[in-house]
Amino acid sequence: MPAPMRRCRAGLKASGVPSGRRLEAGRTGRDAAGESPILRRPTRAQLGAVYRALLQLHGHQQWWPTALEDGPGARLEICFGAILTQNTSWKGAAAALENLHAADALDAEAILGLPTDVLADLVRPSGHFNVKARKLQEFCTEVVEGYGDIDELLDAEPEELRERLLAIWGIGPESADAITLYAARQPTFVVDAYSYRLFERLDLPPGPRKYDVYREFFLEKIGPDVEQLNEWHALIVRHGQQICRRSNPRCEECPLLRRCPFGQNELGLRTGKPAAS
Ligand code: SF4
Repeated sequence: MPAPMRRCRAGLKASGVPSGRRLEAGRTGRDAAGESPILRRPTRAQLGAVYRALLQLHGHQQWWPTALEDGPGARLEICFGAILTQNTSWKGAAAALENLHAADALDAEAILGLPTDVLADLVRPSGHFNVKARKLQEFCTEVVEGYGDIDELLDAEPEELRERLLAIWGIGPESADAITLYAARQPTFVVDAYSYRLFERLDLPPGPRKYDVYREFFLEKIGPDVEQLNEWHALIVRHGQQICRRSNPRCEECPLLRRCPFGQNELGLRTGKPAAS
């Protein structure tokens, strides 16, 4: 697949996280479940201010902007990427995709034709390679035997598509939403550890740290605007990798500092003494 900017092999979720390491929200000032006695759900105005600040800082991310025009091979590669990046950085997933490309295996039939141990070796850079090889083969079995091709699988309204994807072994909510949003270009909100980290640190979580709580809240607030949903997730990831990092966040460079209690605490702006990392 050709790789213009912001496509799979361009290294979208290029990472500060080594391959195989699970992405975590890190310290946010809340407990591990994101619970707090005080809950201040973000208003549309607050969300708009966060979005504009992130967009101004990082610019348009343009993740897979032409997925609908690039052909079924490109859409299938986005699906493989969504599986390979589970519990790991994009860097590892991108290296695994490169291996599949070099082996001429970026194709559902080719994946099914490979012995599972050979496929596992190809996707080794993505971590958890035995289980990911099986997940790719389960996904491709559904594509080939259940639907005939990837576009038949993706051809559904967003909620139905999400249900189809979640019914496939190895596809969880984050992968299902990434495929729905980026491969099928249908509206949904992708939640990950970066989302929990950012909104908890801003003291604006929509609720406890639960996937569906975040997804439903943001989808309702943002609406079915695919471009903006695409950009929201990409900006949150970019911010979480480069500025609002798990350890040593670069709060002094962050345009959200003015509205971020966690960042102000980190820099000692509230207490006169920086927080220990
Ligand atoms: S001020 Fe710091 S903690 Fe708050 S959003 Fe920015 S980088 Fe993250």
